[in-house]
Amino acid sequence: MKPIQEIFTLLSEPRKVVITTHQKPDPDAMGSSLGLYHFLVQWGHLVTVISPTNWASWLNWLPSADHVIDYELQREKCNLILDEADWVFCLDFNIYSRTKNLAAKLYQLKCTRILIDHHQQPDSENFDYGISNVAKSSTSEMVYDLIIDSGNHEKINSDIAECLYAGVMADTGSFRFPAASAAVHRMVADLKDRGLRHTKVHENIYDNFLENRLRFIGHVLLHRMEVYYEYNTALIAISKKDLLRYQVKTGDTEGLVNYPLSIQGIKLSALVIDRDEERKWSFRSKGEFDTNNFARKYFQGGGHYNASGGKSCDSLEKTVQQFIIAMKENGSLLQ
Ligand code: 5GP
Ligand code: MN
Repeated sequence: MKPIQEIFTLLSEPRKVVITTHQKPDPDAMGSSLGLYHFLVQWGHLVTVISPTNWASWLNWLPSADHVIDYELQREKCNLILDEADWVFCLDFNIYSRTKNLAAKLYQLKCTRILIDHHQQPDSENFDYGISNVAKSSTSEMVYDLIIDSGNHEKINSDIAECLYAGVMADTGSFRFPAASAAVHRMVADLKDRGLRHTKVHENIYDNFLENRLRFIGHVLLHRMEVYYEYNTALIAISKKDLLRYQVKTGDTEGLVNYPLSIQGIKLSALVIDRDEERKWSFRSKGEFDTNNFARKYFQGGGHYNASGGKSCDSLEKTVQQFIIAMKENGSLLQ
């Protein structure tokens, strides 16, 4: 993978560009993709954003979210666009398998593939250009850096500012995680100078749910959360029945895994959801517990030091039992 700086001089020649990101895109995936979209269209590139799957409806306020194509819904159209593309930007994921059904297509592409990502252990061999930096708060921050480093500060408009702010705000837990560096705060100050209305973005992300989502969280915290004080760990397991009962939609479980970390002393929080195709795990930790290692070792996953995900093909009951065994094996690290 060659340094991303090598494409800076090529930006001024209009190309057919695709931007894609990980499945079930979160605010950083969607915000960085649309932020880059609003930057590239200013150069006259023909830009298409393709999401591997659907996304939370509360992201639809993002500027130009209505232009994003869902690969699962329009596979043929997307494949044609991908076949014609000169450049494919891959944002906020480190390996093609994170794009689910789109992965096979991305592996086959002959065009230039460019990675912008902050997850550990990127699959660099399968990208032509790129930047991977695990110290960065978010892919949105990295898109901001790209715009600045390529000498295009003046191209940052309010659409770009809103998209990138949404991503960095969400990935830093509203600027509380260690990755919320001085550079992140300087970036936000700059976006404010360029007209960002941060309260609007915050409300659009965090005050944009339906009543059933709040009732669902109440139910889950009361009835589905187990706390293992001996291991400073909390676990939430959500069944299909719970999802149906509260009509839980894509994005409604976002952030749920963070709640148990607000209990004094809790170091590791785990959430597992019984999805149709798999049991999907989320892990969050505080301080010195490496969730990336944990997710890789036990649940075919990965991510960052303090925030990772994984999956299991076993039943909900079985994967929960496996988690409890894994937690006990990691007892000394959880003290
Ligand atoms: P979340 O819990 O929000 O789904 O994911 C937390 C972090 O772990 C995200 O940065 C995400 O990209 C990463 N992640 C989630 N699921 C997986 C997975 O199955 N495999 C890998 N490698 N990373 C994941
Ligand atoms: Mn991210």
